Amino acid sequence: MKQLPAATVRLLSSSQIITSVVSVVKELIENSLDAGATSVEVKLENYGFDKIEVRDNGEGIKAVDVPVMAVKYYTSKINSHEDLENLTTYGFRGEALGSICNVAEVVVTTRTAADDFSTQYVLDGSGHILSQKPSHLGQGTTVTALKLFKNLPVRKQFYSTAKKCKDELKNVQDLLISYGVLKPGTRIVFVHNKAVIWQKSRVPDHRMALMSVLGTAVMGNMMSVQHHCEESQI
Ligand code: ADP
Ligand code: MG
Repeated sequence: MKQLPAATVRLLSSSQIITSVVSVVKELIENSLDAGATSVEVKLENYGFDKIEVRDNGEGIKAVDVPVMAVKYYTSKINSHEDLENLTTYGFRGEALGSICNVAEVVVTTRTAADDFSTQYVLDGSGHILSQKPSHLGQGTTVTALKLFKNLPVRKQFYSTAKKCKDELKNVQDLLISYGVLKPGTRIVFVHNKAVIWQKSRVPDHRMALMSVLGTAVMGNMMSVQHHCEESQI
């Protein structure tokens, strides 16, 4: 993992990324998909304000990269803004984990194929490691964000009504449904307060993904269109 050069940071950095529960889930699931996960489990407690946990079976984070994984502008995905021409990942700014550390207590447990066991790391508000201990998880990465916005009373106040909280759950579900369609080969499970709210199994193609997400009634009213364009790679 490398630190992006200052000029690239100036061009790419976005100051507002973590403003809601759904923005945390979006960043974490994108990291899981970038890590090649075929299974992603998203678990919320109290609409995500007590706990947001995203567990994947992706490649994991190498021990040498762990000290900088949540330090802003460190990323394993690009080296400079020129690499954006050939981007194949959702992430590239190296900002998300660091930004989540600013507004929540973050714990990361990870294991690569080369590791004998997983390690759990507790991070501080600036993304540095406070402590670590061995744990028992399989290959992949689990990121847990606790007490979201505990230091931002105004942001938390925004979610003080039951309707706002329910809307947020729906936003998370809609987000997961979108990734479910985009990534047929990935299993996605969404749990709130220990109850499964929505899930999608692994399927072979986009048509099957749409079928499992939208159902046969909706699919019956859809028309299949294929378009191939040599130049723009669409
Ligand atoms: P970005 O995705 O823009 O690189 P992030 O702050 O989201 O920045 O993540 C920082 C780095 O931490 C990533 O580049 C990646 O190397 C590593 N990382 C984060 N989440 C995961 C994950 N679930 N699996 C594997 N690596 C991860
Ligand atoms: Mg990311």
